Amino acid sequence: MNWWQMETKEAARRLETDEKQGLTSQMAAERLAQKGRNELAETDGKKSLFWRFLAQFDDFMILLLLGAAVVSVVISRLSGENDVLDAVMILGIVVLNAVLGLFQESKAEKALEALKKMAAPHARVIRDGIVREIPAAEVVPGDLLLLETGDAVCADGRVVESRSLKTEESALTGEALPVEKTSVGGLPEETATGDRKNMVLAGGYVVYGKGKVLVTATGMDTEMGRIAAMLSHTSDSMTPLQKKLEQTGKQLGIGALAICALIFCMGILQEKPPFSMFMTAVSLAVAAIPEGLPAIVTIVLAMGTSRMSEKHTIVRRLSAVETLGGAQVICSDKTGTLTQNRMQVTTWTDYSHREPKNVDLRETVANLFALCNDCNVSDGNLQGEPTEKALGEYAQSTGIDFAALRRDMPRVGEIPFSSARKRMTTLHKTEDGWISVTKGAPDILLEKCAFCMEGSGQVPFDDRRKSMARMVNGEMAAQALRVVAVAFRQWSEKPPLTEEALERNLVFAGMAGMVDPPRPEVKEAVHLCRQAGIRPVMITGDHVLTAEAIGRELGIYQKGDCAVTGAELDKMSDKELETAAETCTVFARVAPEHKVRIVQAFQKRGNVVAMTGDGVNDAPALKTADIGCAMGKSGTEVAKGASDLILTDDNFATIVEAVREGRGIYDNIRKAVHFLLSSNIGEILTIFVAMLLGWAAPLLPIQLLWVNLVTDSLPAIALGMEPAEENIMERPPRKNTGSLFGDGLGGRILLEGVMIGVLALLAFGIGHVYFDQENGYAVGRTMAFAVLSLSQLVHAFNMRGEGSLGKLPFCSNKWLLMAFVVGATLQCVVIMMPPLAGVFQVVPLNGEQWLLTAALALAPLPLVELEKAIWHPKQK
Ligand code: ATP
Repeated sequence: MNWWQMETKEAARRLETDEKQGLTSQMAAERLAQKGRNELAETDGKKSLFWRFLAQFDDFMILLLLGAAVVSVVISRLSGENDVLDAVMILGIVVLNAVLGLFQESKAEKALEALKKMAAPHARVIRDGIVREIPAAEVVPGDLLLLETGDAVCADGRVVESRSLKTEESALTGEALPVEKTSVGGLPEETATGDRKNMVLAGGYVVYGKGKVLVTATGMDTEMGRIAAMLSHTSDSMTPLQKKLEQTGKQLGIGALAICALIFCMGILQEKPPFSMFMTAVSLAVAAIPEGLPAIVTIVLAMGTSRMSEKHTIVRRLSAVETLGGAQVICSDKTGTLTQNRMQVTTWTDYSHREPKNVDLRETVANLFALCNDCNVSDGNLQGEPTEKALGEYAQSTGIDFAALRRDMPRVGEIPFSSARKRMTTLHKTEDGWISVTKGAPDILLEKCAFCMEGSGQVPFDDRRKSMARMVNGEMAAQALRVVAVAFRQWSEKPPLTEEALERNLVFAGMAGMVDPPRPEVKEAVHLCRQAGIRPVMITGDHVLTAEAIGRELGIYQKGDCAVTGAELDKMSDKELETAAETCTVFARVAPEHKVRIVQAFQKRGNVVAMTGDGVNDAPALKTADIGCAMGKSGTEVAKGASDLILTDDNFATIVEAVREGRGIYDNIRKAVHFLLSSNIGEILTIFVAMLLGWAAPLLPIQLLWVNLVTDSLPAIALGMEPAEENIMERPPRKNTGSLFGDGLGGRILLEGVMIGVLALLAFGIGHVYFDQENGYAVGRTMAFAVLSLSQLVHAFNMRGEGSLGKLPFCSNKWLLMAFVVGATLQCVVIMMPPLAGVFQVVPLNGEQWLLTAALALAPLPLVELEKAIWHPKQK
């Protein structure tokens, strides 16, 4: 028999579990061991270390180099020299490169892996009779899964309890509309997947209501698992910046190859030995082609994201980090993000503000708030959503006993609260009939009322009274209070549970106003935002006056800004909304559905938009925004699934901090690219210009390869660790042009490449002319070799800041210092240790020569300072 055919008791029996208590922890552990984790199998399984090592050689340049090694062995054999040194060196360098690459890769992977774990979804189950929150991957068949609005369904299951539970399973069934689920069994065997109303499917999510479900299948056994092969797996392996850099790298690589080919041809024309020319050209190509560009980005991004996770931001999509630094507008929810979400009722009133001393009415209002309340009560303590809790505690403070009230007037039905409806209704059985209680935003509730309480009696709620109620509501809202009104209706017969029936002709009872203090750190964060040229925007379901009052207090809503309500928004065309977006910083009484339009309006104005959200209905807006931020604490699994970032503390200040990190990360990527490219250009120019001038090669192939090894990756990675510059939040957001080489970076790279080339050539020229006797080019080459690599190591420090280096603390980037010390030491060892010096064909330098070498190697510092002064005259 199938699950949907049987009754819940039978299902529980077959699953060897208890319908109320769930599994025991021990049984759950056993089943987890037996059935495996509740995850879809990964299609591309983990490769072993060896394969990943081999994969490092899957690169055109490396293959070229290996080819060159083979050619060199063959040629030296043929010419009878039997000199395999070059080949051995090449092999050594290639292997070292691969090891380094592997190391970087696994480091980045570890950081990303850790992030993945943090972002993993959770589920609530009943085990041992207690509600527990566990990673969704640990849910097992037989678990009693609790679902509520916004939860992602993580396993297939048989519904055992449904309170208006509705799920959306379009990914699996193709049915776009939410389906209501019931616990009733006995569906015919042939019922199609989409029509099994007593089953929920993994991959769907809850759009409405609550429910309990007996898990029948997990992981690959679910319907989702069965069609997993059909699902396109997310292929966001490369961020836009990585892709762009790979492209740039390829273009530069082709350019470099062309120059290398040119150098080879020129050498042949100049009648230099073809074999040595070939080796020079190949080594130069390997040294000069920026093959490491995309890898550097991955590493910098991965390191950055693990830093961010320490500051309450979990990055779900790597490329969001790139975008983050360019954010121009941050649209934030109010409740819980800008405020503390610690509501407390401070005042209550009837429609007119006249009766707060009327004890009878006060009791009625308190009773109604207690009836229409979703808090759980244990030992007189209330637990629940902050607004509910505040209203419940207010009722308690008037002496109401929740347990007794709920016993006397049990709830028999409900229409739950949603941010779109801004109200909720409960139906209760009374001694002589039924009573429905509706509470919600006053302006919306007023429309549903035909009578109102005046004193202890009821009178028609005419226009005069209604406008008084509106005024009172406005007064309270202007004091930054969140106002909730309550109304009721008595029934002699049980009414149907629909909005149309229950929520009309109500009797308006009263309103309660509650404070929700702003988060203390937000004011400073808002200030920082403005300083950084980012516009903070508040989006809230609350009354416009409440929103404005809080916005004013936080500095979000300033003189000249405008506030737009959801109702006004509905009337605006997209074009009008776009115009309004220019000055609008508060959107009030909006429903989640409005958020997409708001995001789009800002985007059409050319802004990069970050948007926060927590509910199911926020998911489209989170996807539309350039940076969707879901709330870690209050956010639903669906919102988290749609987001780029998760804020683990639900705090606005955290977004601002993340923007700072994002800017720092982008800067660092730029710094690493700047360094790599200017160095590579320097290497190419050194050889190319020497050829043009008809000189001998200033560096031997093996030396070029060594320079590549010592100077390329270590300093570049170290630059990726550079702490953010102090003034990083004082500059405007970077322009949305998308080019990494904006702001004259391209020109600077070229200029600095020329500088490095000239320094190396100078070293070669001086060394050769003054110190080389008739025995060839040894001293000149040794000096050029040392200057080329040391000057690059020194040049790396120039990247640290846009402004003068004198303004930066010397040791704030210890990685760069380490990269320098390691690189420089290796370089000196190679020159000074006789056996190695032999391999690299260098000669020991005397004091005078070292002095000259040092002077040339240090020259990039003053030269680039000069360049910065000319390029950035405005830099303080
Ligand atoms: P945001 O989190 O986006 O800032 P919000 O949480 O302030 O928005 P909603 O939760 O959508 O906004 O609430 C909108 C209005 O609905 C509130 O101003 C209040 O009047 C009413 N309201 C809020 N919570 C409840 C509730 N639990 N029951 C009845 N009415 C409520």
